[in-house]
Amino acid sequence: MLEKFDRYPLTFGPTPIEKLDRLGKHLGEKVEIYAKREDCNSGLALGGNKLRKLEYIIPDAIASNADTLVSIGGVQSNHTRMVAAVAAKIGMRCVLVQESWVPHEDAVYDRVGNVLLSRIMGAEVWLIDEGFDIGIRRSWEQALDEVKQRGGRPYAIPAGASVHKFGGLGYVGFAEEVREQEKQLGFAFDFVVVSTVTGSTHAGMVVGFANDGRQQNVIGIDASATPSKTKAQVLQIARHTAKLVDLGTEIADDDVVLLEDYAYPCYGIPSEETKEAIRLCARLEGIITDPVYEGKSMQGLIDLVRKDFFPEGSIVLFAHLGGAPAINGYSCTFESG
Ligand SMILES: *Cc1c(COP(=O)(O)O)cnc(C)c1O
Repeated sequence: MLEKFDRYPLTFGPTPIEKLDRLGKHLGEKVEIYAKREDCNSGLALGGNKLRKLEYIIPDAIASNADTLVSIGGVQSNHTRMVAAVAAKIGMRCVLVQESWVPHEDAVYDRVGNVLLSRIMGAEVWLIDEGFDIGIRRSWEQALDEVKQRGGRPYAIPAGASVHKFGGLGYVGFAEEVREQEKQLGFAFDFVVVSTVTGSTHAGMVVGFANDGRQQNVIGIDASATPSKTKAQVLQIARHTAKLVDLGTEIADDDVVLLEDYAYPCYGIPSEETKEAIRLCARLEGIITDPVYEGKSMQGLIDLVRKDFFPEGSIVLFAHLGGAPAINGYSCTFESG
C-alpha cells in the first residue's frame, strides 16, 4: 500500500515479535500474548514508534529545502527526542518546544531521560509553561517564526508526528509487516493492543488492517485522558490516510476502538494499577514499560485478559512502542521498586 511514497530509512527493518510466556501463564493461560518490539526498532537514540512515522515525513522535509526541524511535545516527550536524533542524523538543526503537559514534580524531571538525550544531540530545547493539548499550539508557531527571523528554514513536525499529511503512513507499514510475519509464524493475531495519544499510530494500524477487514481488532488504549479528542483525531488521520493509500473502503466511526478506562488520573501520571502493570511486566518478562504510554496499555492488556474481553484461546499482539527513557523522570514514583 506504500510503494508510491518515499521512505527515508531510520529503522533496522522489521521489528521482532516475541512471546510473553510468563505473563501469559501468570494471567491463567487464557490467551497467548506476544509483543512487537517497536521499542527496539533503531539505533537512533533508543528508538520508538515515532521513527516509523518519520521515515515517511523526512523525505518531504529534505525536499522542502529546510535546514531546521521544529517540533513540540511534553517535557519528557519521546517524539521530540526522536526528532532531535533524526535532525542529527540528516544534518539539520532542531528546535523543540517542550511544554508542561504533565503535572509532575520529580526533582530532575526536566533534566533526565528524553530531554537530556535531546540536549546531548544538540537540539535547542524551549521549556514552556503550558498544559496538555494534542492540538496545534501557539508556542509551536512562535518557534517556527523565530527560526525564520534568524534566517533559518524551518520544517514543522506536529506533536507525535500525527497531524502531518504523511503521519499515518508508517503504521500502515506496521500492519503490512505484521501480515508478512504472520505468514512466517503460521498463525494470525486476533487482536493488537496499542497505546493511543496523538493518534497516528492507531490510525495507521486501522488503515493497514482494514485491508483485510481486521481494523476493529486493533484495541486502542487511551493514555491521553482526553479520549473524545483523541478518538476524533484517530478517525480524521485514518480517513485522510485511507485516501492517500487508495484503500478503497471508507473508515467507519466504530472502526476506531478506543478504551478509555486506563488513562486516569491524567496524561503522564501513573495510577497505582499502572505502576503494578509496569512492575509485573518488568518482573515476569524483563521488559520495561513507562508510566506515560505502554505502562497504561500494559495495564489495559492485563485487565482485559482478566475480564475475559478476549475470547479464550485468542492470540494477542501487544505493540510496544518505546518510551522507556521517560522513566528516569519518575525516580520518586519507583523509589522502592
Ligand atoms: C507517542 C507514543 C505513543 C502514542 O502514539 P501516538 O501515535 O501519539 O498515539 C505510545 N507510546 C510511546 C512510547 C510513544 O512515544
